[in-house]
Amino acid sequence: HPAGPPALQITDLRVVFDGFVAVDGVDLTVPVGDLRFLIGPNGAGKTTLVDAVTGLVKATGSARFGELELLGRDVHRIARLGVGRTFQTATVFEELTVLQNLDIAAGAGRSAWTMLRRRGGVPDDVAEALTTVGLVDQRDQLAGTLAHGQKQWLEIGMLLVQNARLLLLDEPVAGMSHEERDATGELLSLLAEHRTVVVIEHDMEFLRRFARTVTVLHGGRVLSEGTVAQVQADPRVQEVYLGH
Ligand code: ADP
Repeated sequence: HPAGPPALQITDLRVVFDGFVAVDGVDLTVPVGDLRFLIGPNGAGKTTLVDAVTGLVKATGSARFGELELLGRDVHRIARLGVGRTFQTATVFEELTVLQNLDIAAGAGRSAWTMLRRRGGVPDDVAEALTTVGLVDQRDQLAGTLAHGQKQWLEIGMLLVQNARLLLLDEPVAGMSHEERDATGELLSLLAEHRTVVVIEHDMEFLRRFARTVTVLHGGRVLSEGTVAQVQADPRVQEVYLGH
């Protein structure tokens, strides 16, 4: 895949909690169309980095999404700019159907007039998201009754109807079956054809199959970066993962 212009360019990112440095001067560039895996031991700063980029925690340094500086903007503004994020526990509306969940997500970026005018039909963007995430047959099912994997896919669908161009996914395959993992890997590969995807993940088999590039964090810093093969061959990575 061609290395395009950066979708995300992080420079000297620092996050400090009560004197504890959780992210310690991270530089990270993710080109458009990348499927980047962010790995590292517990406490490495992966979630905090994503929190900083999405406006959930305060940070210093810079995080550019295309031409736009994200640091200093609030969570909702960052989402509206096209930076989508999922959490380890899917945050869908369990009492509503799949379609209603997508509709609400889409509504965030849609005028009341547009919503009124279509009178119950499924709009193109919602129909497309349903197809992309493989939930066409579940469209009228309550989200609370979906399988674990399907909830994660619905959450990704909700980001798609919000026109997210950069997707930051926190352990999307945790707790998934083998089949669900495969389907999720295919989905992420598809998404990365037109968008940019950054995945926090622990599952090494999943990473080997689907990662295009990998960044390893350790102690709030970038320890290693490259292809899966490059990162696996890096002695610093082996030391962190296998002990001394
Ligand atoms: P990872 O996602 O790589 O497991 P985290 O980003 O969750 O790591 O955490 C990095 C470090 O920052 C950990 O040592 C964690 O305890 C600390 N940390 C995370 N959030 C907070 C917080 N809100 N207050 C204080 N310390 C925090």
